[in-house]
Amino acid sequence: MSKVAAIRAEGTRPPAAKRTRAAAGARPRERNCSVARTVAILSDAWTFLVIREAFFGARRFETFRVRLGLPRGTLAERLKKLTRQGILRQVRQSETSSRHEYRLTRVGLDLYASFIALLSFGDRWLADGAGPPLTLIHKDCGGEGHALECHPFVACSACGGAVEATRVTYRDGPGAGSAPLEPLKRSRRASDPSQFERGRPCSVARTLQIIGDRWSFLVIRQAFFGARRFDELQARLNIASNILADRLARLVAEGILERRKYQDLPERFEYRFSAKGKDLYGSMIMMMVWGDRWLSGGEPPLVLTHRDCGRDFTPVMVCDRCHEPIEPRAMAYRMNYPAEAALALK
Ligand SMILES: [Zn+2]
Ligand SMILES: [Zn+2]
Repeated sequence: MSKVAAIRAEGTRPPAAKRTRAAAGARPRERNCSVARTVAILSDAWTFLVIREAFFGARRFETFRVRLGLPRGTLAERLKKLTRQGILRQVRQSETSSRHEYRLTRVGLDLYASFIALLSFGDRWLADGAGPPLTLIHKDCGGEGHALECHPFVACSACGGAVEATRVTYRDGPGAGSAPLEPLKRSRRASDPSQFERGRPCSVARTLQIIGDRWSFLVIRQAFFGARRFDELQARLNIASNILADRLARLVAEGILERRKYQDLPERFEYRFSAKGKDLYGSMIMMMVWGDRWLSGGEPPLVLTHRDCGRDFTPVMVCDRCHEPIEPRAMAYRMNYPAEAALALK
């Protein structure tokens, strides 16, 4: 039996926990999670693309439309939604003009650290033969002619040290609890993930294709909370066994999880992060920070403690050269792809 088939076969065992809950007629519940709230926004391919182009300086409807090749209606709808969500704001193009353009708000600009975390992961693990599509330069420390590259990392706000998954403990914050799991909306992304890279090769898009799928994301998050076994994941997620088996198989195929035997008779397997999987942690906690700040009404569901310094902290994306937090205005980019790639929009 192939690895993938074997994982799928595991999914055919009767899910005891699920049966009980289904019998009780309870709607599945999901713990409050700032990462999930952020992923829910970013995993819509069009929304993500519009925010990305805004970071690259797009402001006008026509600029977004030409760069992304989106139908007018789709673009208008996403711009409206992002404005409603407070990520973009409409500004008159000039005093006398009745036309508007779109600018990132403080909320929108604050997504930058999440984008950089997703980008760093994509650069490290998902770049093709051409290498990372973008080189980052921190203008404040990039030297003469911005020659020095910047490789940002996630640091502890209390001690400035690097933050790793195994060096963080969690406790419930004021926003802890659970809410009914929202029914899944069909998204375009699910049917055509290639849309994510529309317009330009992009490491952020590549990473979102892995964690933007809701169930894959939830499995990864449970894995960071220590869930390793099929039954355990299934009980925590209240997920249909065939869907769980499918997502585990996919995450193993993508090299995020590794399947290891922990028992011979009967054979049982558990799932552990590979080095690549562990490295998703930076993206997860930076998205958590954003969700905590803007989507949780000031009540974060989780409080993080850094074991290295023993203090509660907020993860901060900092420059590896000068250790200062990175801000979109202080960054420059070298694009490592031909200009035509940016126009291959059809
Ligand atoms: Zn610390
Ligand atoms: Zn710097």
